[in-house]
Amino acid sequence: MEQPIIARKNVTNHILKSFNIRADKRLGQNFLTDEQIVAQIVEAATLQQDDCVLEIGPGIGTLTQALAEKGAAVTAVELDKRLLPVLKETLAAYPNVNIINADILQLDIKEAVNNQSFKVVANLPYYITTPIVFHLLEQKLPMERLVVMVQKEVAERMVAKPGGKDYGALSVAVQYYAEPKIAFKVPPTSFIPAPNVESAVIVCEVRKQPPVTLTDEKIFFRVVKAAFSVRRKMLNNALKNMGITAEEVKTWLEAAGIDGKRRGETLSLTEFAKLANVYVTLKVVS
Ligand code: SAM
Repeated sequence: MEQPIIARKNVTNHILKSFNIRADKRLGQNFLTDEQIVAQIVEAATLQQDDCVLEIGPGIGTLTQALAEKGAAVTAVELDKRLLPVLKETLAAYPNVNIINADILQLDIKEAVNNQSFKVVANLPYYITTPIVFHLLEQKLPMERLVVMVQKEVAERMVAKPGGKDYGALSVAVQYYAEPKIAFKVPPTSFIPAPNVESAVIVCEVRKQPPVTLTDEKIFFRVVKAAFSVRRKMLNNALKNMGITAEEVKTWLEAAGIDGKRRGETLSLTEFAKLANVYVTLKVVS
């Protein structure tokens, strides 16, 4: 039987009304109602017939339906219990969809995807975009690609290059694990209810190998955090946030060949890696 397409304003309103559901702002509920955008998201995921897809926050099943139509095996993780009976009905025709009621930040993702390699395709809840992205990338899961709708500003920070105002710890972290690209922008009118911000779909090709060689990944992320902890400050000052003295910072920067008058936002990934590796070599102070 032909399934009604959920990604339409009238269908979405009808579903929400019949189940007496009001979008919960605290859970970042903005349901997509634009068929074209849904199709573009699915296209960006370059799905093959039996690909395994992890969707975070299926809502009422809008994107899930389009993914399932492609023949992918979809595991969709939804926190809001109220949406479970809705999903049961809207996705009844798709045996290739598995709904899990859980908080994505608490879930054992490897187990949820049966240890298979997978792609993430999602319209993320904006209030926890960064924790979700870190949670996915840091675990070094067998994840090939991440296609996610996020707030436009967050997308711009993820792809930012050194020197610009958007470049920060998020840019360095995402670019260390993946190659991010903004695929397209999405206006608030594509959702019910309309969010207060513009959105963008970002595609991250997860790297098989990191782009830089690190002696200690944890130290690398501590250095990045310290460098950006006080945005307008020079490295001379900012790096004291590693818990070391000005003298130790000076020795460290000299050994790494990096000018202490520079600011964190001007350092490339390679320079951050150099700093971190020299820190470990000097064993400045842990
Ligand atoms: N995919 C649907 C769409 O595109 O219309 C809904 C997207 S809506 C922006 C975000 C969804 O994430 C909501 O359904 C919300 O309940 C769910 N959500 C919020 N926090 C979550 C969490 N911690 N774990 C899993 N799902 C969550």
